Amino acid sequence: MGHIRLTNVAKSFGAIDVLHGINLEIADGEFVVFVGPSGCGKSTLLRVIAGLEKPTDGELAIDGKLVNAIPAADRGLAMVFQSYALYPHMSVRQNLAFGLENTKMAKAEIAERIGEAARMLEIAPYLDRRPGQLSGGQRQRVAIGRAIVRRPVAFLLDEPLSNLDAELRGSTRAELAALHARLSATMIYVTHDQVEAMTLADRIVVLRAGRIEQIGTPLELYNSPANRFVAGFIGSPH
Ligand code: ADP
Ligand code: MG
Repeated sequence: MGHIRLTNVAKSFGAIDVLHGINLEIADGEFVVFVGPSGCGKSTLLRVIAGLEKPTDGELAIDGKLVNAIPAADRGLAMVFQSYALYPHMSVRQNLAFGLENTKMAKAEIAERIGEAARMLEIAPYLDRRPGQLSGGQRQRVAIGRAIVRRPVAFLLDEPLSNLDAELRGSTRAELAALHARLSATMIYVTHDQVEAMTLADRIVVLRAGRIEQIGTPLELYNSPANRFVAGFIGSPH
């Protein structure tokens, strides 16, 4: 579960072509990082996988099943946004439960999943607070917790740490790596931060103007960048 394949995926907004012929296969449990300059299409690619944007062309398959026509909510994926996107008028517990309560899930199961995510992310003491009473780091944990309770086959994270200060970014990055090891779920992670890409990724996908420039492990990209653009982006001396 959590195998994702894109075949010739393209996306245009009206006359603006944002993604061109994206071919990409992500293995179950892999941590894949999309990097590239602002505006190159990272978020759009993630949103296409999530089902929040329809590809203009191409095919998208999850665990071997074509999902082009399957709505976002039924793809078994969970997205974490940079802006947290929490409901300000609800408690942390209610934020975590939201989305599960719309399903037929038993109350006891919901409570158990919330307890587990809260322990994992060390947010148990804040379950009855509202997001406005939390720090930025705590809010981002709640946003990640809201994804965890859904037990998705893949997590889609769009610059989840970019609103945090440098110190918190470092510690949260390490926690994300630990979480990935523990959940063994597929993670697709968008960033423009080289350090995040190099430390978190099993493989890095370097995007430029809506095309994939190179795909490889951090070491492969560092040692053998395909061109100067990749070298510059990865911080490779080659
Ligand atoms: P990134 O996340 O790499 O910074 P985006 O995927 O957000 O890049 O955007 C890629 C390009 O697509 C940008 O030029 C952006 O203006 C354009 N774009 C994104 N979403 C829309 C939209 N809904 N309508 C029109 N253009 C869009
Ligand atoms: Mg973006």
